[in-house]
Amino acid sequence: MRRHGARSGRGFGVFLAFSGAYPSTAVAIQRPSRVSDDTYKHLIRFCNSCGAGVTHRIPEGDTLARAVCDACGTIHYQNPKLVVGCVPVHGDRILICKRAIEPRYGLWTLPAGFMENEESAAEGAAREALEEANARVDIEDLYTVYSIPHISQVYMMFRARLLDTDVSPGVESLEVKLVREDEIPWDQLAFAMVKRTLEHFIADRRAGSFVTRFGDIRAPHR
Ligand code: ZN
Repeated sequence: MRRHGARSGRGFGVFLAFSGAYPSTAVAIQRPSRVSDDTYKHLIRFCNSCGAGVTHRIPEGDTLARAVCDACGTIHYQNPKLVVGCVPVHGDRILICKRAIEPRYGLWTLPAGFMENEESAAEGAAREALEEANARVDIEDLYTVYSIPHISQVYMMFRARLLDTDVSPGVESLEVKLVREDEIPWDQLAFAMVKRTLEHFIADRRAGSFVTRFGDIRAPHR
């Protein structure tokens, strides 16, 4: 996620703790707060159409507060960001990357980053593997989808075949390596979604069949 270092960094610090017991994947419909946390953190102050100051209010016919420009009428919607990544596999080994950037500097992750405009989710996942680990992959199938409502992000992780083992750290990685199951640094993983995706992957590989999953990752303290 090199191109978005500054922008991407904002959200990740929040879900630092891996809870021992994962929340159920049962879907609980919750009404969003009037203004999401995300909106507060990334509050729009000026209209990007005309440059006037905006006000934050609920537009007529809407249910949530938006940044509204009273000068030109533009309503600035803020919506969740998609993060795409993959589990690159070569034989019985999985490619992981040690982060060279905050948050979670020095911890291990799967290659993933913010999707760019005008690319597909699978293209974005392959691009991130190339950027973070100089890894060439074939994206095989969607594997896990995690919603992280408190930071307004959705992760889409794919299973991928690593085409060769000629990998090396990209600018966002201190180190990259191929690990077998017993070499996964479980206590040094950067994000809950990495841990959950790897746990599912190991279990599914043992079972001989991969099952696509979705779930929610909630703030540890709320
Ligand atoms: Zn305006």
